[in-house]
Amino acid sequence: MEVIYLLNSGFLVHVDDVLLVFDAFDDPAGVIPQELEKGRYEWLYFFASHAHFDHFNPEIAKFSTKTRRYLLSEDIRSNGGANRMPKEQTSWIGTYDSWQDDVVSVTSFSSTDEGTSFLVEVNGKQIFHAGDFNWWDWTGDTAENRKLAENAFRKQMKHLAGRSFDLVFFPVDGRLGPSMERGAKVFCAETHPKAFVAMHSVGYPAWQPSAGFFAAGHEIPVWAPTKAGERHSF
Ligand SMILES: [Zn+2]
Repeated sequence: MEVIYLLNSGFLVHVDDVLLVFDAFDDPAGVIPQELEKGRYEWLYFFASHAHFDHFNPEIAKFSTKTRRYLLSEDIRSNGGANRMPKEQTSWIGTYDSWQDDVVSVTSFSSTDEGTSFLVEVNGKQIFHAGDFNWWDWTGDTAENRKLAENAFRKQMKHLAGRSFDLVFFPVDGRLGPSMERGAKVFCAETHPKAFVAMHSVGYPAWQPSAGFFAAGHEIPVWAPTKAGERHSF
């Protein structure tokens, strides 16, 4: 698999002849048009986890002639940009929903923010994109709110614990300061990812897992891109 960083939580993933594009709200390096120009793919799918401006941008509709399907979280339907999406090519995905065709199989989970996270199975690979699902532990917040955030996160983890993923995209947001890797750490401990990509941390230095982030013997490759257009193979 080859992964290219668009921006924020936006990534383009090559899985053999399938192209998956997640949360492409902006693409300052022009990755999407360049990759489509190269033509090294058979099928193209766009995903958007929720309607927030830093995840969904109806500009993705301009690639409709090359796109097999737009898989968009249900909450986007009431977004002003939704009517720009080609109706016959768009599927609205609720939480705990599923969708499949002869190429990809998609399962959605709830988020701790708006919308969904996605598990995409393609060519025997399992790829999880968290969207804004995270333990949003804002250290300046009240103890009560911090507990609510933790509870929401742990409740949702119960639906994910024990699953295996070939590749995971998960927020490690610099704005959370000392809590930035808190959700990611629990996620890695309770599921079985084979590789981890950090996201949702625009403007912060590349994240490095702290000592003890992975349980001993469970270290996996980590990638934390900071520059639009950076690429990495897994
Ligand atoms: Zn976000």
